[in-house]
Amino acid sequence: MTDLTPTPQQPGLHVAKPAKDFPAHGSYACRCGATDRARGDDNVRDLVAVWIDHRNTCPHR
Ligand SMILES: [Zn+2]
Repeated sequence: MTDLTPTPQQPGLHVAKPAKDFPAHGSYACRCGATDRARGDDNVRDLVAVWIDHRNTCPHR
C-alpha cells in the first residue's frame, strides 16, 4: 500500500478501503508540496473534499 501513497513527485489522491468493516484511509499530495492523510471513513470523506477544494485553488495548477 505504501508505494501507492502520493508524493509531490507523484501528485494525486489515494483512497483505500480494504474491507467493509475496516476503516478507510487516504492521502493526497500536490505539486505545490501540500500533503495530508486521514484514517476513518468520515475523515477520509473530509480529506477528499479538501483535496478537491485545493485543486480548485492551488496556485500551481
Ligand atoms: Zn497545491
